[in-house]
Amino acid sequence: MNDKISTLLAKLNTDLLIDGEWVPGSTGETLEVLNPATNEVITSVASATEEDAHRAFAAACRAQESWARTPARERSEILRRAFDLVMERAEDFAILMTLEMGKPLAEAYGEVTYGGEFLRWFSEEAVRHYGISGTTPEGSLHMQTVRHPVGPCFLVTPWNFPLAMATRKIAPALAAGCVMVLKPAKQTPLTSLYLAQTLIDAGLPQGVLNVVCGRSAAAISAPIMADPRLRKISFTGSTEVGKSLLKSAADNVLRTSMELGGNAPFLVFEDADIDEAVQGAMAAKLRNIGEACTAANRFLVQESIAAEFTEKFAAAMEDLVLGNGLEEGVTCGPLIDAHAVANMVALVEDAVVHGATAVTGGTRGEGTGNFFAPTVLKNVPPQARVFREEIFGPLAPITTFRTEQEAIALANDTEFGLASYLFTPDHSRIQRVSSQLEFGMVGINTGVISNAAAPFGGVKQSGMGREGGVDGLDDYTRLQYLGIKDPYS
Ligand code: NAP
Repeated sequence: MNDKISTLLAKLNTDLLIDGEWVPGSTGETLEVLNPATNEVITSVASATEEDAHRAFAAACRAQESWARTPARERSEILRRAFDLVMERAEDFAILMTLEMGKPLAEAYGEVTYGGEFLRWFSEEAVRHYGISGTTPEGSLHMQTVRHPVGPCFLVTPWNFPLAMATRKIAPALAAGCVMVLKPAKQTPLTSLYLAQTLIDAGLPQGVLNVVCGRSAAAISAPIMADPRLRKISFTGSTEVGKSLLKSAADNVLRTSMELGGNAPFLVFEDADIDEAVQGAMAAKLRNIGEACTAANRFLVQESIAAEFTEKFAAAMEDLVLGNGLEEGVTCGPLIDAHAVANMVALVEDAVVHGATAVTGGTRGEGTGNFFAPTVLKNVPPQARVFREEIFGPLAPITTFRTEQEAIALANDTEFGLASYLFTPDHSRIQRVSSQLEFGMVGINTGVISNAAAPFGGVKQSGMGREGGVDGLDDYTRLQYLGIKDPYS
């Protein structure tokens, strides 16, 4: 493995990508990338300044016209070649993600499949993007709607899914004919840089995609957000940063896609198959070490089955093997940094003060990395912080309910509205409960819902816009209506 890592890092471009060239930042400053399993430095990447961000955005703007005119079939084929290359390079991508983010290698391969699929899905959608045609009701005008690329975009991604969050934005933007600057999170820039090289290898023309990361996200984003040529910001990250970007987006009345935080309820009704629900709970809680916006945050379990569910769920959590995700057999990796571990400890302490009990875990893990033991808490009251805040770690709080209406009220008792989960075999209950859940996505008898073909997104303070599916492409287009006088009217 060490030889593979050395070879991979030796071929990785760690500079900024501006106008098709890999260039150091204008001050020569660099940024260290750490392995969260060991807290050792993996490598350093160029750190962009305001000036670099400005140059990157100017390069994108110069490429906009020719990229928008490039036939959809050509754009589609570049995306398809990029998909094939990502699949060929699956091992490289998986190792990079485990190194810089910490997820177990098997999960990193899972992200290669999921993240790569956005390239394939949007290569297919690129050539099937239609408007409508018709006549106005009184017959005087022929109506046509045409979809144009929205224009230059600024794409900002988080550290938790280094590949998928980038492809989920880049692929529809390219399919629609938009140019862009991508700013990956400072903790995980390596996967994005390798993806950018892969897109260049697939034939992407210079300037269409530019990548800048650096020590100060605010310094990089300020000149781009202020530039009147910018047409869209697509952001995935915390609600707090999303709100501040929404405020600056208002100055230029930008199109915005905001994929923000979540606080997913996971409802288990007494008629559910408990083993299936536990399996779903493990998938919804432990995917990505719990560091996912779709992660089940609150387990709401009907009182009559709570003891059995809790016991089986805790046993499954105890079976996890905590450790460095590159090592064989490890099923739960480290958290992204020491701050995240301290937050888990604080959430547990607060829940216990509010009357909860730790059924398993509740403490830091051993070793020099940022480990936290998989934890199940029971009797968690809605006042506890762990019930109200996005957890982002392998910590599962359980709260019980008596009636369906109580379950729905508890589930909706949050300012977030991204993912939710529901376990019951009763179809009328599925319809009744889902229609009352104030969430953008509902997983029914499953703990995994993300899919490139489905519209991903939230309501309330979880954001706006949709990524993936057919809607994901619409979000990178502006709709123009042509009203044509009917020559016979
Ligand atoms: P974050 O702190 O908000 O950072 C996200 C991105 O925003 C990073 O690239 C960060 O750059 C950048 N950023 C920070 N401050 C900025 C500023 N002032 N101007 C412009 N960009 C700025 O979030 P995170 O901790 O990386 O990610 C975790 C959050 O993402 C969680 O809340 C999670 O729920 C959310 N998330 C949502 C989805 C979804 O689809 N809804 C998916 C995945 C994650 P630096 O790294 O350089 O600071």
